[in-house]
Amino acid sequence: MAGGLTLTGIVLKVAPVGDRDRHVVLLTRERGKIQAFARGARKQDSPLLGACQPFAYGTFQVFEGRSSYTITGADILNYFEELRTDLERICYGQYFCEVANYFTRENLPATAMMQLLYQSLRALTKDSLPPGLVRSVYELRMIALNGEAPQVYACVNCGAEGKTNYLSVRAGGLLCPDCRRLDPHGRELSDTTLYAMRFILSAPLQKLYTFVLSEEAQEELASVMKAYYRQYVDTEFQSLSLLEGL
Ligand SMILES: [Zn+2]
Repeated sequence: MAGGLTLTGIVLKVAPVGDRDRHVVLLTRERGKIQAFARGARKQDSPLLGACQPFAYGTFQVFEGRSSYTITGADILNYFEELRTDLERICYGQYFCEVANYFTRENLPATAMMQLLYQSLRALTKDSLPPGLVRSVYELRMIALNGEAPQVYACVNCGAEGKTNYLSVRAGGLLCPDCRRLDPHGRELSDTTLYAMRFILSAPLQKLYTFVLSEEAQEELASVMKAYYRQYVDTEFQSLSLLEGL
């Protein structure tokens, strides 16, 4: 079939089109984010019914038309059913998809972001990991993949490597005692939170969700990430207001 492709990806977003069809935003390894139509996918007997659901991960057969893609088949490897039965985890999963949707561009390969999303959805299914911690880890690693990692090893202004735990969200990293006047609204991080940030920014993806933190450090990290996204992310995520309403 001319124009036929097989793409590996995760469904980020689904919207109904008319009575029968669905419009799907897919984050794929090969093409980055794509918009695709799934004809007949709203019908109960459609083979695409299950594949066109948020979080569905697998391979998708698509036809590339002149201005859009059409999904013709799918082989789903993970539906993340565990997330669908817990309202809080569904909301976190939707938030992760919304964040991925925000940071990815159409037709630009996004392998690392797709893998991070997949590992993070898997981490969300684990009862041993607090979803709030998974969220902070995902947020920090995602903003780093976008090229906006905070400098957590040296002073972001002068490069001094002496010990400092003073983090300025506005400056984008640590400030040494000589430079902290640049931002009086920075905060003194605990050693634990600072080490956690270094780990999150440097760990191999497979190891990313293998640590736990005290509740105090989790709260501090969450608060840093909230401030970071307020500063660097230019959108309101709908799923966050749902989460906060729980
Ligand atoms: Zn400095």
